[in-house]
Amino acid sequence: MRQGLVIGNWKMNGLQAANAALLADLCARQPDPAVEQGVCVPFPYILQAVQALRASGIGVGAQDVSVHAHGAYTGEVSAAMLADVGCRWVLVGHSERRLHHTETDSLVAHKAQAALAHGLSPIVCIGESLAQHQAGQALGVVARQLAPLLALGRDAVAALVFAYEPVWAIGTGQSATPEQAQQVHAAIRASLVAAGAGENRILYGGSVTAANAAALFAMPDIDGALVGGASLVAEEFLNIAAALALE
Ligand code: PEP
Repeated sequence: MRQGLVIGNWKMNGLQAANAALLADLCARQPDPAVEQGVCVPFPYILQAVQALRASGIGVGAQDVSVHAHGAYTGEVSAAMLADVGCRWVLVGHSERRLHHTETDSLVAHKAQAALAHGLSPIVCIGESLAQHQAGQALGVVARQLAPLLALGRDAVAALVFAYEPVWAIGTGQSATPEQAQQVHAAIRASLVAAGAGENRILYGGSVTAANAAALFAMPDIDGALVGGASLVAEEFLNIAAALALE
């Protein structure tokens, strides 16, 4: 039985005062033990989130990690540093990093490996662009993105969380339908099973709200959500987690 998981991605939003209010609101409700929750916050606010959420059961994560262990890599943040300040999660290969920072499939796999080596749980984001979606290439794109991850070996693969995030659904208000998402999630799971894993949690991400969450979570291979915009509103985020708890 896979435990449900809802992760918030604050992206590059927040300042200390606003964060404090949002974090306090997140703590206001007792989380359902059936659903694990986490928030991936900008690097400067990781400690603030760790301290504010300590008693809440909500984990903290980062939005990126360096592939390098330490040294002359100005501006980079290592997996060891993230673990040291209390991170449990780290997003790897978010489409905004693939797009704006030209992260390749191979680099994403190496980042996942670096995270695992320091006890972090990588949430690996994969998904097709609008043009690829319109060309009917979603399954092929996801298979290509998965390939270097599957080459990391069974133990590493089994430790990964995946987030299927069709790029055309991110921040657009146009979520994939539950059936569209389920089709890709089932294909991802089949690839994981073929690699000797398969019990991984596979999250859906892309314009998830409290209004559409339950229908997505009703799908057999959707184990939770990676939530962007809606994670900046505590009530909305908590209601998404509550919808998952009902599944
Ligand atoms: C995301 O940033 O990963 C995301 C899914 O964003 P949104 O929920 O705003 O579409």
